[in-house]
Amino acid sequence: RTNLEKVKGMGDAVFQMDLESALRYSLKREVGGTKEISGEKLKALRKYLQVLLGYFPFNQNGKNLLQEILTYANSEETIQGATIGKLVKEAEKVEKQVFSTPQKWLGCQGSSPQYRGYPCGLWTMFHYLTVNVAEYSGLNPRLALEAMHGYIKNFFGCSDCSQHFQDMAKRREIDKVATFDDSILWLWMAHNEVNQRLSGDPSEDPSFPKIQFPSEMACPTCRLQDDWLHTEVLKHLKHMYNNQNIRYLGAN
Ligand code: FAD
Repeated sequence: RTNLEKVKGMGDAVFQMDLESALRYSLKREVGGTKEISGEKLKALRKYLQVLLGYFPFNQNGKNLLQEILTYANSEETIQGATIGKLVKEAEKVEKQVFSTPQKWLGCQGSSPQYRGYPCGLWTMFHYLTVNVAEYSGLNPRLALEAMHGYIKNFFGCSDCSQHFQDMAKRREIDKVATFDDSILWLWMAHNEVNQRLSGDPSEDPSFPKIQFPSEMACPTCRLQDDWLHTEVLKHLKHMYNNQNIRYLGAN
């Protein structure tokens, strides 16, 4: 069986390879491609890096890299994106010490190269972060959502997507989210709204049609007729995106 078939047979699985590839693309291409970073952009970057440092599923070498990047981002009021890109590229040269996987897509692999990939990886990473930040009490329940919002606003290369996301954040009152569970559900609902809008769009991979997530098959208890049962959806998301359930398939 091909990788694609194998991965499709695994249901709602989350792969380390997609998380690491999204992180690398984000820091090398989007942050790395931004010439000067200051003001609001720099604030957003610092917040994003702090959340990654705290909760991205990395080994000690990976954490050291993020710490080095954050220290640089904190060191001046105007920083160069290229310096961050360079730090990541240097880390990549030390094979398997920082990144445990090749920079490829696994759960986010499209049926052909124009589909899926980075945007899929980015959604996956932010769902992962909302779930895993929530494992720790006493923090700001919007920590992961604020990091995502700031990142998408200031760095995400798809400007239409970014605008849509900002409009949705306002309309769906992201600033009123009051608990960790609600932040997980907020992102789930927001993502479903995007799925709905893009269903049938030319950008949709015919092998991965946009659905209202999760599918009936992946979570038979999540719906009662046409209504979502939020406690069941939450259970499904917490299980799927839990740190313990990240798959290392294809890591070597
Ligand atoms: P994706 O939608 O990328 O989903 C990735 C994975 O997340 C899925 O395979 C599934 O396992 C899981 N998932 C799906 N839905 C949910 C959910 N509700 N809750 C939890 N997990 C879920 N493209 C546009 O053309 N226009 C836009 O306006 C646009 N806005 C975007 C905004 C953001 C913030 C991002 C990150 C991307 C945006 N995109 C937009 C890209 C688009 O949403 C998809 O990422 C892209 O089309 C690839 O789709 P995909 O089939 O790989 O699945």
